[in-house]
Amino acid sequence: MRVRILGTAAGGGVPQWNCACEGCAAARAHPSWRRLHASIAIEASGGRWYVVNATPDIAEQIETSADLRPGPGRRQTPVAGVVLTDAELDHTLGLPRLREAPSLHVIATAAVRDALAGGLRLDRVLAPYAGLTWSDLPEDKPVPLDGGEHVEIRAVRVSGKRPRYAAGLDVRDDAWSSALHVTDRRSGKSLVYAPAVAGWPPGLDRALAAADCVIVDGTFWDDDEPRRSGFTERTATEMGHLPISGPNGTAERLRTLPATRRLYTHLNNTNPLVDPGHDGHRTLAGMGIEVASEGLVIEL
Ligand SMILES: [Zn+2]
Repeated sequence: MRVRILGTAAGGGVPQWNCACEGCAAARAHPSWRRLHASIAIEASGGRWYVVNATPDIAEQIETSADLRPGPGRRQTPVAGVVLTDAELDHTLGLPRLREAPSLHVIATAAVRDALAGGLRLDRVLAPYAGLTWSDLPEDKPVPLDGGEHVEIRAVRVSGKRPRYAAGLDVRDDAWSSALHVTDRRSGKSLVYAPAVAGWPPGLDRALAAADCVIVDGTFWDDDEPRRSGFTERTATEMGHLPISGPNGTAERLRTLPATRRLYTHLNNTNPLVDPGHDGHRTLAGMGIEVASEGLVIEL
């Protein structure tokens, strides 16, 4: 099984269009600091890929990944569909960008589907362009990807945190935010993709402990970072992202996992790790943890 990292930034990306913080300013000056919105692609079977989360950067992410480019037929694409881990705008606004397809296969929990249909009205907006074909992503039940035998995905509940636009929406369940446990049935190896970790529920802990590779929420370096940056009064934890360092930090938990590869993704533009030379990279390397880079292909 191959998994390709398509993007590694939190909402807004690095740089963010209306932000002149140190990280964003440096990213304008140094292309190596730039990061697209967090996303991965999973190869379901030979040459057919599912993109996990449709970010505002999805067309660029497809274009810059040789495996995902169209061909050899004029309108033939290796992108078979999209899996959604939540209904946040940064993970769903890319769906309209794929409207040139005759139809789009989207795999999501009932809450996420109801939010997109009832909150964003994407079904109705996209119907005259590309109809959405939905598949259920039930909690804790393996789903064969692309209906095939090679790769299966399983949603692991992470939190019931709704997107702000769905605050009052009537939905069928509250599986709002999931991690994805992806298993290659041939090798038996697996990967967990958890771009939004608001807490550390037992189900997530079990999935991470069973995985050979984990790619986890690294939005904020420390809990006070969002407040210090001046854009909010909330801590990282209050914003639904456990920080990397500190007493409730995730680095200590990642360090003790048996996974052979542990990576952070979903970096906010305030995170000092957007600086490739920041000391934090060495601190994490000492714990056997990397910061994911775009274009990286993981084979399991
Ligand atoms: Zn910024």
